[in-house]
Amino acid sequence: MSTPDDALERLLEGNKRFVSGSSVHPNRCEETRRNLESAQRPYAVILSCSDSRVPVEIIFDVGFGEVFVVRTAGHTLSQDVMGSIEYAVQELGVQLVMILGHNNCGAVKSAVKTYSDEDSRGAGNVQAILDHIYPAVKKTCSCCDAGSKDFIDKAVKENVRYQVSELIKKDRYIAALLKFNQIKVVGAYYDIAASTIELLD
Ligand SMILES: [Zn+2]
Repeated sequence: MSTPDDALERLLEGNKRFVSGSSVHPNRCEETRRNLESAQRPYAVILSCSDSRVPVEIIFDVGFGEVFVVRTAGHTLSQDVMGSIEYAVQELGVQLVMILGHNNCGAVKSAVKTYSDEDSRGAGNVQAILDHIYPAVKKTCSCCDAGSKDFIDKAVKENVRYQVSELIKKDRYIAALLKFNQIKVVGAYYDIAASTIELLD
């Protein structure tokens, strides 16, 4: 893959095939898997929500060796997650970083529900995820009712933008490559029913 834009175009083309029911299921044969045994050269790293309705390789119609996938509920960034993204860029030469959210995200719904009610917050590890989403909930325009479908969708998109900005702010290696246009970092939104990908500003 010669440029980050080529990588993005390849993913978007794959999603178009998936949406239109013409997936080609590339790079899944035995020969491909054998050739990949000694090394991998993926062209994109995707931080996606762990949601079972967002199977990354299927919705982009890609196969083995194409995308380096990191998944957490609510596609939140921890140091380990940033380390995984950085590894893909630094060691594997990945040029495109995508952070992928989706409609009806349970993690974002929980964050919206517990954001303004501290008594409803838990003490377990799930709370650590929600803590990473609260800044996005806070930034979500309050022109619609918290908990309404519109609000959740806006909060999901805000959460994608927030995680993108956090990655650039906290990962100096990624920020430096971005500055010299050597990589591209994009936020994207997946619609479960329509199966479409929308790139976010
Ligand atoms: Zn989700």
